[in-house]
Amino acid sequence: MIANYHTHSRWCRHGKGELEDFVQEAIHHGLKEIAFTEHVPHREGFSWLPWEEFPMYDHALNEVKQRFKDQIRVIKGFECEYYPEDCDVYRMFIEEYGYEMLILGHHNYGAAHDHSVFRTKPEEDLFIYAEEVCAGLESGLFRFVAHPDCVLEKYAGGWDDAAEQAMRMIFAQCEKLDIPVEINCGGIRSHRAYPSEDAFRLSGEYKLRYLVGSDAHRPQDLNDYAVQAAEDMAERLNLTVTQILK
Ligand SMILES: [Zn+2]
Ligand SMILES: [Zn+2]
Repeated sequence: MIANYHTHSRWCRHGKGELEDFVQEAIHHGLKEIAFTEHVPHREGFSWLPWEEFPMYDHALNEVKQRFKDQIRVIKGFECEYYPEDCDVYRMFIEEYGYEMLILGHHNYGAAHDHSVFRTKPEEDLFIYAEEVCAGLESGLFRFVAHPDCVLEKYAGGWDDAAEQAMRMIFAQCEKLDIPVEINCGGIRSHRAYPSEDAFRLSGEYKLRYLVGSDAHRPQDLNDYAVQAAEDMAERLNLTVTQILK
């Protein structure tokens, strides 16, 4: 791995380590680029990175970006749910604060955003999820889709027809819009149903670009067994991983 575009620090509560700890670890492993993608702050409702802390966070991130600029490219990003009502805020982060790497990591779906991908779900939820991801990608706000297959977590049907159809919807949309898909290492570390080898085998039928995303929550996650396992999976399935996102 020479670039990682999916990183969480202590700023989003469930990460551990300061921004500079991640940057130093990344430099140590020879990474050329690192994007911080804390969960995007929301004006109202729950945020991992509270809305009020954004100015402080942005200041800290700018400082680190500047301090290490001769050694590594630090990219300002956010991992975002697709909440249509929040797209104006996402655009503000891009246009006014220089956040270049908004990634679609959709975890909460349904009209009220009250279904979580981490909970047990019926078949119809796979399609609701896939439709929302496809709509999100259509917005043009997102550089890639994080864990496109995370809806398979806690789906009792396993790799059945519905799972395949839902994944086809997402992959077809990524192909149409030329949006890279991520093989997510966080799912490997947490023993989730994603990244799903079945889903990624199926994805080979589409013309797609792939990224391995560490989804690092600790500096040492930037170059661990999960990153290796994701790279191995890509190789087994003959999927070409993009190293540096242009
Ligand atoms: Zn995520
Ligand atoms: Zn993440």
